[in-house]
Amino acid sequence: MRINIAIDGPSAAGKSSVADKLAERLGYIHLDTGAMYRTVAYLCDIKNIDVNDEKSVVKALDEATIDVKSDGTIYLDDEVVNDKIRDPKISMQASTVSKNPQVRARLVAMQQKIATSKGYILDGRDIGTVVLKDAEVKIFLVADALERAKRRVNQQAQKGVMLDLDEVLADINRRDLQDTNRAASPLKKADDAYLIDSSFLTLDEVVDKILEIIKEKVKEG
Ligand code: C5P
Repeated sequence: MRINIAIDGPSAAGKSSVADKLAERLGYIHLDTGAMYRTVAYLCDIKNIDVNDEKSVVKALDEATIDVKSDGTIYLDDEVVNDKIRDPKISMQASTVSKNPQVRARLVAMQQKIATSKGYILDGRDIGTVVLKDAEVKIFLVADALERAKRRVNQQAQKGVMLDLDEVLADINRRDLQDTNRAASPLKKADDAYLIDSSFLTLDEVVDKILEIIKEKVKEG
């Protein structure tokens, strides 16, 4: 039986890495919804649009085409943007564009359309509460903010990008505060989501825990 899996949680909690590994183990497709908000922020950046100017952001989004392939490649019109949207300046701008209810409505509709059939793992902030309310398995992945910052610094160092730990930690805290306190679909654990604290767990340990949860669910269903 194929199911859908929702993974939500704060910034840099490892949602994407966990979702990638799970997708590989299960033969499922991982849709990184944060990358879609980042693409809107990148669109604003290249068009010189203030991310707080809600009307102009929506207009630019309506005039553009965002296309997410099943292998995770993201196109903004004809441009592959996967690397460009990872720039640290885009992170905070993505958090700001994601407050915009009309941007959310458009991206949520795209996400729901993509995950119409089963066999999807979506990670984000509102997957269990809004996008896939009926997902068979919902995970809320958390970790201590300093641990998350250290992981992000190490992850980037492996790619040859050196980041300052204090700056990364400040960015994570700022984004979490904004994502948790916004009016439209704030970051929130769904009542029926399993809480996993990954502060002292390896990636494989988190993945194994989720695979156990899935096994139980599939048995019940
Ligand atoms: O997951 P990631 O950190 O790449 O997401 C970038 C930003 O996009 C988040 O800080 C959050 O504000 C927003 N986001 C969202 N809803 C989602 C996924 C991401 O609001 N489902």
